[in-house]
Amino acid sequence: MIKQEDREKRHGLLINITGPGKGKTTSALGTCLRALGWNWKVAVIQFIKNDSETGERHFGDVSGMPFEICSLGAGFTWRKGGSSNEDTQCAENAWQKAGEYLAEGRVDLLVLDEFNIALDKKYLPLDKVIATLRDRPSWMHVIITGRNAPAALIEACDLVSEIREIKHPFNAGIPAQKGIEF
Ligand code: ATP
Ligand code: MG
Repeated sequence: MIKQEDREKRHGLLINITGPGKGKTTSALGTCLRALGWNWKVAVIQFIKNDSETGERHFGDVSGMPFEICSLGAGFTWRKGGSSNEDTQCAENAWQKAGEYLAEGRVDLLVLDEFNIALDKKYLPLDKVIATLRDRPSWMHVIITGRNAPAALIEACDLVSEIREIKHPFNAGIPAQKGIEF
């Protein structure tokens, strides 16, 4: 159990992992592993709904660790023929859940996976989102992932890394594989 006085000593960071190369979500999940090793409480909200099984979700189900993961987005980048109203509604639902975590201060690390995309597509008002992120507990770390991080969000972040693609097996016809991609 982490003592609140130890939490208060932290400088909570707003981290953004963006860019076209592979490794954004993986990077955030790696930080989750590190945080769990220190008995921190961790939550991941996936803004792109993915109904297929993933290793990280199995981990959430079976590990018994304080690692909560939920997928509330619309699947907007993959889904064909969906209305943008529906996408907005789903992004709002996921953001509402994120807002609960940010306000409650129940977790030490919060990952908003693919959130950059929801903001880039203007499903949510960026200025209000940034204000809510800034108002979180001073000790809470937040990691946002996804391509196309908006400039104003980058400005508000403490740490921003852009992943560049040099090679990807997809371009050599190698499909996504268990344990590496999902
Ligand atoms: P990962 O979840 O593997 O860390 P990511 O979060 O950086 O990837 P996303 O933009 O979320 O990348 O893409 C999700 C999926 O698309 C992943 O399975 C990833 O391997 C694949 N992908 C990422 N970058 C590329 C690319 N440049 N070309 C083809 N597929 C890619
Ligand atoms: Mg990703």
